[in-house]
Amino acid sequence: MRPNSLFGEEAEPEREDLLYAQVALRKPLRREFTYAVPAEFRECLSEGMRVAVPFGSRREVGVVVGIDEECELEPKKVRKLAAVLDEEPIIDKSLLELTRWIAGYYACAWGEALGAVLPASLKREKGVRKRLVIEAREGIGESELGEVIDRFPKQHRLLRTLLEIGEPVELREISRQLNLSDAPARSLERRDWVRIDKVECAPDPLLGPAKKRERPSQLSGGQESAVEAMGAEVEARTWSTFLLQGVTGSGKTEVYLRVIERALACGRGAIVLVPEIALTPQTVSWFRSRFGEVAVMHSRVSDAQRLQTWQRVRRGELRVVVGARSAVFAPMPDLGVIVVDEEHEPSFKQASTPRYSARDIAVVRAKEAGAVCVLGSATPSLETWNNAAEGRYRRLMLTERVGGGRLPRVEIVDMCQEKATKEGPKLFSHRLEQLMRDRLEKKEQTILFLNRRGFAPVLWCPGCRETVSCSQCDVALTFHRGIGRAVCHSCCEEQVPPKECPSCTRPGLRYLGLGSERIEESLGQLLPEARISRMDSDTMRRPEDYERVLDAFGDGEIDVLVGTQMIAKGLDFPNVTLVGIVSADSALHLPDFRAAERTFQLLAQVAGRAGRGDTAGEIVVQTQTPDHPAIQLAAEHDFEGFAAQEILLREELGYPPHGRLIRAVFEDESEAACCGAARDCAATIRANTSPTDVLVLGPAPAAISRLRGRYRQHFLLKAPELNAGLSTARSILTRFAADNPRSRITVDVDPVSML
Ligand code: ADP
Ligand code: ZN
Repeated sequence: MRPNSLFGEEAEPEREDLLYAQVALRKPLRREFTYAVPAEFRECLSEGMRVAVPFGSRREVGVVVGIDEECELEPKKVRKLAAVLDEEPIIDKSLLELTRWIAGYYACAWGEALGAVLPASLKREKGVRKRLVIEAREGIGESELGEVIDRFPKQHRLLRTLLEIGEPVELREISRQLNLSDAPARSLERRDWVRIDKVECAPDPLLGPAKKRERPSQLSGGQESAVEAMGAEVEARTWSTFLLQGVTGSGKTEVYLRVIERALACGRGAIVLVPEIALTPQTVSWFRSRFGEVAVMHSRVSDAQRLQTWQRVRRGELRVVVGARSAVFAPMPDLGVIVVDEEHEPSFKQASTPRYSARDIAVVRAKEAGAVCVLGSATPSLETWNNAAEGRYRRLMLTERVGGGRLPRVEIVDMCQEKATKEGPKLFSHRLEQLMRDRLEKKEQTILFLNRRGFAPVLWCPGCRETVSCSQCDVALTFHRGIGRAVCHSCCEEQVPPKECPSCTRPGLRYLGLGSERIEESLGQLLPEARISRMDSDTMRRPEDYERVLDAFGDGEIDVLVGTQMIAKGLDFPNVTLVGIVSADSALHLPDFRAAERTFQLLAQVAGRAGRGDTAGEIVVQTQTPDHPAIQLAAEHDFEGFAAQEILLREELGYPPHGRLIRAVFEDESEAACCGAARDCAATIRANTSPTDVLVLGPAPAAISRLRGRYRQHFLLKAPELNAGLSTARSILTRFAADNPRSRITVDVDPVSML
């Protein structure tokens, strides 16, 4: 109640009573907007609440980021807040401050940074959106599929997938995966072959029954001292960041669990970030079996669940959050520890505005909360490794596998020495084939890794020597045999593969290169007696699919698991004694200064899947560049050697961690406009900064020079540190982007993708 209403007759003078709210809106305009606060809201309004405001002719939802008694604008021109949507702030001061920092650092609007933090349903006035789920009706099958196969390929694809899945799935999710609009679903509904229902809240697949994971009675020496070092800091409530560098299988997860136990014991909360791809029921159930109810935050949960989880975390009802990137923003009161598992993973960097790094934000948040930040990895990013080397982070090492398991023996096979067969180059070296047969006989299991999905990544015309590209992108089409389509992995467009070359119209296009589908098929021919399963984003559509295949693999019902990145992480199966890396080269030749680092990380990670039981494992790495240091040193499990060598190269070239980068990408349907904008912007930056402060490299066509029908140019800003020149350049870019809405301009601070 307003205090002066108790003394009703003493009305205050109007002028002094005026308040103005600064409101952040989710608009790319990099400023806040001022609104007058009507009398009825004056007492209840505070920072961190959501409000509805008039914006142009519409009504928008924003967050109050400041309340002032004065306003520089002419009072008549200031519009009024329309409604206050919260009774208490939904964002506390520290998260508000964090989003402001993000906006400044990552060059976006404050409202956009807030947009990354808030659950979707908090960004709308109307609240929670219901979800639609779709399933095939009983009795629908082959004959219906036959009816649509030729004339309605999209309906066919959807129905086929629904029949494969055999239970209700979220319509939005399945349409996204199959790159379809809602239309095919609606057509199937009209035929009465599927039913579409509205549901409030579908069950979260990651919250099935928790599997027991024993709490080991004794920690290894390394684990013990790591837990002690970090636990003490949590209890002392001091900020510090640790690099927990432990070889695969050294029991890092157990260390996280124990540090979290210590945090909970003194009343503090915990956030655990894992790469999206590692966020499987298996991972989640480890945490649940130890801590009971935990909050799970990931991109697939429904709006309603996300909102509910958010509120429960904010009220202190859930003290452990496990999630992907965005969980770093969980509104956890008295945060004691933030864990970033596999901290080197590129997926911690968001690929759309705001382009934040969840790993770096974890450090910033920990600092603000007086918490401990744990960055865990077997192969830390060079940024983190260097921060530890220079004493900013404390490094804790786990050098041994738990229970004395040995690291697997790695054998490099030079594929240039393997004889080609009639059908083309060999997929499996003699050595790999021999070892796979051996494992089959011994009833041990094999994992085969290839970093590429589909059947063949290149459709090539021997007549004119052209490859077939996407009509919208400068990207070669990948042939997917399972669905009989050529697919663009950049924009998801697909087509029936052309019979003749689109350039020279000659027939006889050839399917070249390797994809996981081809590996699975060729392996089936090579080892017909083996039970083979494939795990990639084409076969694994839902978390339950992982669960199913991983259970079958764990139960020994699968001999060979073929897969992409999806199998590189976290799998822990003691009977896997052989890992084959079909080609180590694909990541090595990307136009990216981190190509060697990525290759090393990938090899180490995949190799870590073998020999986790009592039998030592073996790794076969097939490559055309057997002498490359990344491959050689990975084979020797020598991360320190690799990092020491790589850091010198970075230093010489001024690349991170020695030096800072900002990348600017310009996109336009007109090639001339695209080049013009990039050139003008680069020239403005050059004219306003000194080259000793900031070097402007480019502009030049981006590695993907055309995407979804837009031409792409980019340039890099390189500076020895975050200096005044780089800040100037960042502001010029921001302003240029606001002034040139036609050319889409992306500013990427600390970029991890160079494509
Ligand atoms: P990392 O994440 O370092 O690769 P994990 O945390 O997956 O390793 O641990 C590997 C395996 O060792 C897991 O099965 C885990 O349950 C087990 N483990 C971890 N710590 C211990 C311990 N102190 N005693 C016995 N087993 C342990
Ligand atoms: Zn495309």
